[in-house]
Amino acid sequence: MERRAKHKVVLIVWFIVFLLLGSGVWSFQAGHLMVIGFFMASLVGYMLAAFLMRCPKCRMPVLLRPRKFLGMELFTWSILTPTHCRHCGERLK
Ligand SMILES: [Zn+2]
Repeated sequence: MERRAKHKVVLIVWFIVFLLLGSGVWSFQAGHLMVIGFFMASLVGYMLAAFLMRCPKCRMPVLLRPRKFLGMELFTWSILTPTHCRHCGERLK
């Protein structure tokens, strides 16, 4: 399976877990805290993945996406892995 397909599966599983957790614990006294905690854990996981997943050729993080905006170069983070490296064009598997 390609990395992008795996990434989609991870996102779908995350969303299902989020919905189940959200509907399951929201009525508890500290249910919203659990949902916030889940979000924080997800964010940490995403940041780890974002910094660890690097292009095999140029070593740039593959989720970092350079964009031109009003002549400035801005970087945004994408959630889904691109099929090619944004920096050198290397195909990512
Ligand atoms: Zn690259």
